[in-house]
Amino acid sequence: MIDTVVRGDAVVTSQGVGSYDVAISGEKIVAVVSSGSVPLGPGVRLIDAAGKIVIPGGIDPHVHCRWPMPVPNGPTGLTDPPSTVSRAALFGGTTTVIDFARWTHGNSIQGTIEQRDLEWKGACYCDYAYHIMVEGDLPPDIPGQLGEAVQAGYPTVKIFTTDITPSRRGRMVDFGDVWEVFQVLAANRGLAVIHAEDNDIVMHMYGKLIREGRIGFENMAEVHNSLSEDLSFRRIIRLAECVPGSALYMMHVSAATGVAAIREARAKGLPIYGETLHQYMLYTNADYRRPNGQIYHTYPSLKFKTDQSALWDGTQDGSISTVATDEICCTLAKKTEGKRIDDTTGGNAGCEPRVSLMYTEMVGRRGYSLNHFVNLVSTNAARIMGLYPRKGVIAPGSDADIVILDPAKRRAIHAEDLHEADYSPWEGHEVHVWPSLAMLRGKVVVDDGRFLGTLSDGRYLQRRIPTEIIDSPAL
Ligand SMILES: [Zn+2]
Repeated sequence: MIDTVVRGDAVVTSQGVGSYDVAISGEKIVAVVSSGSVPLGPGVRLIDAAGKIVIPGGIDPHVHCRWPMPVPNGPTGLTDPPSTVSRAALFGGTTTVIDFARWTHGNSIQGTIEQRDLEWKGACYCDYAYHIMVEGDLPPDIPGQLGEAVQAGYPTVKIFTTDITPSRRGRMVDFGDVWEVFQVLAANRGLAVIHAEDNDIVMHMYGKLIREGRIGFENMAEVHNSLSEDLSFRRIIRLAECVPGSALYMMHVSAATGVAAIREARAKGLPIYGETLHQYMLYTNADYRRPNGQIYHTYPSLKFKTDQSALWDGTQDGSISTVATDEICCTLAKKTEGKRIDDTTGGNAGCEPRVSLMYTEMVGRRGYSLNHFVNLVSTNAARIMGLYPRKGVIAPGSDADIVILDPAKRRAIHAEDLHEADYSPWEGHEVHVWPSLAMLRGKVVVDDGRFLGTLSDGRYLQRRIPTEIIDSPAL
């Protein structure tokens, strides 16, 4: 029984953009047919999206909620919880987020997932999943446990090849252990999600800049530099190549060297996928010198204009598949507490404006098709992360996660209008659209600025990576 019809003249489907009725029954889309052809009997709600753009809900495959955040003075605190971030996500047109379940020594992988479930169950307004993150020296039984987790629907494993900063020792996993994990993932059809930096280069540059007294965070691009991205991407990709059946998702690609490494690997037929962040696409290291310049920072680092244009090129040739946020939601005071290359915190608040910003930059300013934009903010993440076609597409059988972008809501972004932190790195940015409606599995959760979601709405998403994603660069 159809209960809702979304009727629009610019509905973005996998078949292209057109005038369609999207018919919904309960939580699912049941039909996508030509506009006006679904009869509107009694009890059927019509959502008229004429003059607007109807897209599948955004997917942010890289966020951190309730995440330990080291600051220079005082104890490590936690960033804002899923309730805050997911609400902001929905206001901005993102209906699914993927966070991390962080394994630490002494715990099991199963125990890690159960603990994270306690923090998320009944605490998230949108749908969600976790990457399992491992760190440091891995006890010999951990790779096997990761294989079991892949089979149980937790198919993505996050690995760092660097400690990131001198104070975070213990984060990186050495290549022997990475090799073991890759073998288990290959055997179980999992996917490694990688934070790749060359630890030697990064730590060498910390030492050098500290010796030279150039410790301000504005020097971050010299520490977390393009050479590091070049070496580390090529080394980990080569390791994956040596373990047949391995596939990699390279998180927060920031440099032209990273894009080139991914492009070359894909040309050889290797299943390597690139993610970048909206701040890397729109800011450079020059922005570190602006007031409160830390608010633009995320590790590895903002880089140069040439890197930025390489990232944009990567979205054209498939080297970059997704645009995420690396969300770290906290106050401006916390975000700007660290002022040095070794104590400035990563991540920032940006989950809410991501979809509208990317629409503006891609469709509005660069002439990308609506399908291309939707691929980069939703569909590709769904396909790579094992959520497709349940998520990331407007098609019969998919979850009714639907967002309506309204050109009449064109605006400049201001933190006080958002629902995240008390600042926004996007303050003053002009966006050409803003969501007028967000629907999560058939329920309207944001309607013209009114929030209608509840904390029982968000659901954990079991996943399985499709074979075609692991066998070759499928998209
Ligand atoms: Zn991150």
